[in-house]
Amino acid sequence: MARLNDYAVNTSNSKKLFQQSKTYLLDGVASSFHKASFQEYPICFEKGKGSHLYDVDGNAYIDYVAGMGPLILGYSPDTVNEAVSRQLEIGTQFCSPTYDLFKLSKKLVEIIPCAEKIVFQNTGTEANMFVFRLARAYTGKSKIIKFEGQYHGWSDEEKISTDARSIEELGPRNDPWKRRESLGQLPSATENIMLAPWNDLDAIRRIIDKEGHDIAAIITEPFMCDSGPILPKKGYLEGLRQLATEHGILLIFDEVITGFRMALGGAQEYFGVTPDVAVFAKAISGGFPISVVTGKRQVMECGVHASGTFNGNAVSVAAALATINQLEQPGVYERFDHLGRVLTEGIRKLGEKYQVTLHCDHAGAICLLELGVDHPLNDFRECLTSIDQELYDRFVMRCLELGVRFTPNRGRIYLSTEHTEEDIQRTLNVIEKVFSEF
Ligand code: PLP
Repeated sequence: MARLNDYAVNTSNSKKLFQQSKTYLLDGVASSFHKASFQEYPICFEKGKGSHLYDVDGNAYIDYVAGMGPLILGYSPDTVNEAVSRQLEIGTQFCSPTYDLFKLSKKLVEIIPCAEKIVFQNTGTEANMFVFRLARAYTGKSKIIKFEGQYHGWSDEEKISTDARSIEELGPRNDPWKRRESLGQLPSATENIMLAPWNDLDAIRRIIDKEGHDIAAIITEPFMCDSGPILPKKGYLEGLRQLATEHGILLIFDEVITGFRMALGGAQEYFGVTPDVAVFAKAISGGFPISVVTGKRQVMECGVHASGTFNGNAVSVAAALATINQLEQPGVYERFDHLGRVLTEGIRKLGEKYQVTLHCDHAGAICLLELGVDHPLNDFRECLTSIDQELYDRFVMRCLELGVRFTPNRGRIYLSTEHTEEDIQRTLNVIEKVFSEF
């Protein structure tokens, strides 16, 4: 496979910067997701504006990575910048209630269907850790059902069975292995986690039959974006809702990716299924770190300790208010839908023209692209057996070389308010060139 040093474009400064970084920075990157496994070195960027990114060698890219999801208003959005600059003048951290904290909490309760009370954290990982504890405290039970291939964060209990590269690594479908994905995760981390393949209500029924008395929660991404991505089958989320209600289990939506991207009220508004508790992060604040746990009053008020030095810090809160205000403007989600349709219909037509087998769809400001498969997938196991990962990696590399940046490894494409019809057309032109070379 082509590696970055085989590039037709000059990326020598990226290569050099990565090598220098490795001297001091573990693996040369700030998060292990900042470098794809198939890359010898990542492209290093120095500025971004709107839908465009610029690297340290002066190359420009139309970007669909969006800082791994948060940049729903594009890079360096003026409205967020202004709100943050104003806040910097008057203080970043008060550790007290503030008018903005009140305004943001009230706004979230108004726009998110399940929201009755709010807890602020800083990252999705932390918020999901909080939610695990909340579910156990509220129900008095221990076990959490999570799904193969769904990532909820990097903590011991979250990062289980997220990274398998082959179906054999997952174990039997009806009794999956619980994979600890990092050295150092305690063996006990898997004790209270029950695993199931997604989009399969019978798998949940089987677990409930066996362990129903001790299941505190089912946690799921409502649109499985971290693998695949995969949309829920018709009736699946409703089925989870019903099973959870019948058995006194909390239904938790991890809306870290879907929140504010699928609709202002998240996937729960988009699909019309209301969980008991949900977690939001990423796109809520246009690029500043903040996460939210929210849910039904009696669950949220069950007495779980919620602390954190930077929780509700004034800069992120100002950024979130500015972001939500922008997203509330008329026509924003209609425009996402329009651009998503133009892009995905265009990709499908190119697939037909160049006989590239693919599945492509969109929901809100998220598009999905799977190569090597011509139908919607159901679960992580199907991703591992059906998607042509090698082809997708080559596609990502070649597009990058031609000035379009997609997320490596997974075919999720993030739109922002700053993408234009012209960006989409230029992107389709690049994809056409890449498909024609396959
Ligand atoms: N949940 C989902 C669905 C995610 O995609 C992520 C991160 O990508 C997380 C949780 C963890 O969020 P964070 O990286 O902010 O800790």
